[in-house]
Amino acid sequence: KEETPKSDSVQKELRSPICCIMGHVDTGKTKLLDCIRGTNVQEGEAGGITQQIGATYFPAENIRERTKELKADAKLNVPGLLVIDTPGHESFTNLRSRGSGLCEIAILVVDIMHGLEPQTIESLNLLKMRNTDFIVALNKVDRLYGWKTCRNAPIGKAMKLQSKDVQMEFNNRLTQVITQFKEQGLNTELYYKNKDRGETFNIVPTSAISGEGIPDMLLLLVQWTQKTMIERLTFSNEVECTVLEVKVVEGHGTTIDVVLVNGVLHEGDQIVGPIVTTIRALLTPHPMKELRVKGTYLHHKEIKAAQGIKITAQGLEHAIAGTSLYIVGPNDDLEDIKATAMEDMKSVMSRIDKSGEGVYVQASTLGSLEALLEFLKTPAVNIPVSGISIGPVHKKDVMKASVMLEKKKEYATILAFDVKVTQEARELADELGVTIFIADIIYHLFDQFKAYIDNLKEERKKEAADDAVFPCVLKIIPNCVFNKKDPIVLGVDVVEGTAKIGTPLCVPQREFIEIGRIASIENNHKPVDYAKKGQTVAIKIIGSNSEEQQKMVGRHFEIEDELVSKISRASLDALKENYKDDVTPEETKLLHKLKRLFKIP
Ligand code: GDP
Repeated sequence: KEETPKSDSVQKELRSPICCIMGHVDTGKTKLLDCIRGTNVQEGEAGGITQQIGATYFPAENIRERTKELKADAKLNVPGLLVIDTPGHESFTNLRSRGSGLCEIAILVVDIMHGLEPQTIESLNLLKMRNTDFIVALNKVDRLYGWKTCRNAPIGKAMKLQSKDVQMEFNNRLTQVITQFKEQGLNTELYYKNKDRGETFNIVPTSAISGEGIPDMLLLLVQWTQKTMIERLTFSNEVECTVLEVKVVEGHGTTIDVVLVNGVLHEGDQIVGPIVTTIRALLTPHPMKELRVKGTYLHHKEIKAAQGIKITAQGLEHAIAGTSLYIVGPNDDLEDIKATAMEDMKSVMSRIDKSGEGVYVQASTLGSLEALLEFLKTPAVNIPVSGISIGPVHKKDVMKASVMLEKKKEYATILAFDVKVTQEARELADELGVTIFIADIIYHLFDQFKAYIDNLKEERKKEAADDAVFPCVLKIIPNCVFNKKDPIVLGVDVVEGTAKIGTPLCVPQREFIEIGRIASIENNHKPVDYAKKGQTVAIKIIGSNSEEQQKMVGRHFEIEDELVSKISRASLDALKENYKDDVTPEETKLLHKLKRLFKIP
């Protein structure tokens, strides 16, 4: 095997920065990719642009050509730009290595007509989590009413050609978007007005249909990365490689699509991920041929970063998207490398709650699993996780989640992110009482889970309503005994606490005799559910058993006696457990007082 001699790296050789496109659905991510790829293809010459597996390579020469109108005299040191072809969070989260991002810069696409949308914010959160730099493409400017097309022009030039009305509408919408970003805690500014690049993120207006602003976008990507990331972009022989996709290809069996971020891969290299195997073939598509057409792959003896590559090898069906690939060099110990590869998985696994109580989390790749776990851990969310899995939800996952049924029922849930649920798994979940939530936006999962928990709490409250007793002290108003017994109907002043329907009452002065529960309350002849301290209301008391039904005003107790909530250890516990947030500090004080009165330890 050939190794590049060390002396070669004296003059710093740079690799291409890697760029991802993210944003809400339908903002034009795919179209934007087509647009930057397509322009040159139409001219019959791809201008050196090559399609790779999962990525497109734009050589510096091509970018220089397309940005010359900007007169930026683009001095490009990087060999080009590698843009990942599958837009969205999946590729981005899989471009990872031991928890850090491998994507140098992202294009966050925002539809100028719609502003920030749920997946924009999701993308933003992912970018923040990985600390990844990005520019905002404010796309679809051609949809501004009255827009004059200025094909592939720099945005400044295109903007000058627009009418006052168009410019005004543009400015209004831009201001709105900047405000929305501000609400997300981010400063953004039109790139040619941005004086504080670094703190303030650049916005480039674009049209993926007519190409306005595309030169600006390309130039920004390249200039900014080579200006701020020279260290990071310095070519190194240390292989950095991440699995974007695991898929079956006819004639090749299970293959992996990887992005080689740094270093060189050779045919025959021993690779270690969750699997150990040997590279059978390194493949890229044939130039100028449609991707994914059978038999159009080029074989390579070796490939140098940064590139998108398809690898064929034995045993790849056990590979996992989002994991790093390690190469066993001539002086390396296989066991060491295996341990390193396992560390990567373990660092994700370690986010599982040690208490063993928590929900079950499932995602399609290690990258998205990591992002989801990260999100669940944030203080605002704070959902504990007891188990994780990658791939579709199977019966065994439901079985594992069902363990929680005995420990903490509400955690017998599977939060499934971007994965399928098999029919058997769904049936088993229904049978066992495991709840499965599915979403392709992380915080939608959270919203669903939260709604479920809130609902559950409400149900528990209802169930506990008879046991949980709110404290109250009532004074009978003389001349307001409307019925002496069965049911007792009285006018009362609420002296302390809250009288609620269902509250059991007793008379402390008469050896705590129990007289029944409040069955209804009327305030000014209107039925109400409760009456607060200071209110005067009529209440109906119905005995819960025949003994209580015998109790009579004037015989078993007198109108001078206070009526007090009948509390017990059990009622206090039920109240604390289910109504913690509903008890006021004043009521808590009263409860303490009653506790002493009832001699509850
Ligand atoms: P993605 O879901 O973000 O990949 O969005 P697509 O690239 O599929 O675009 C969604 C729709 O918006 C398609 O109908 C595109 O033709 C349209 N579209 C994308 N970019 C532009 C643009 O700059 N201007 C206009 N007018 N339409 C666009």
